[in-house]
Amino acid sequence: MSDCIFCKIINNEIPSYTVYEDAGYKVILDRFPSSVGHMLIIPKKHIEDIFSLDEETAAGLFQLAAMLAPRLKKALQAEGLNILQNNGEAAGQTVQHLHVHLIPRYKNDKVNIKWKESDPTPEEFEKTLTEINNI
Ligand code: 5GP
Ligand code: ZN
Repeated sequence: MSDCIFCKIINNEIPSYTVYEDAGYKVILDRFPSSVGHMLIIPKKHIEDIFSLDEETAAGLFQLAAMLAPRLKKALQAEGLNILQNNGEAAGQTVQHLHVHLIPRYKNDKVNIKWKESDPTPEEFEKTLTEINNI
């Protein structure tokens, strides 16, 4: 994709701080990190979002996340780590080339990943389940 910023980073047309690279993936530091070490795992194939993600690439993404997470935790003395992956504008996706965020967490950091909880009735749960079961 000629106008995709992550394709340009993958092709080294735009510089990035590269943490890891292999034939299928590139891992870079996020340009605007939410915490120290915030990074992005990016498949080299231009895949827009999870709705068009193939299973093999998906497996590779999580394999990489699992390989990197303990190393990051140790290297950065992180106390936790969030894995985040946004799909679609409604979900906060701003770059339309699929990527997985690894966000190391520290006590008193400024990251805020929290939602307002709801409390559905049993009927509402049943309705949701019916809708899901019908797909
Ligand atoms: P999204 O909101 O799509 O899940 O995340 C996009 C991420 O890409 C954001 O965290 C943003 O800071 C990061 N980002 C946007 N442009 C660039 C760039 O040119 N270089 C790097 N390294 N990260 C970028
Ligand atoms: Zn792309």
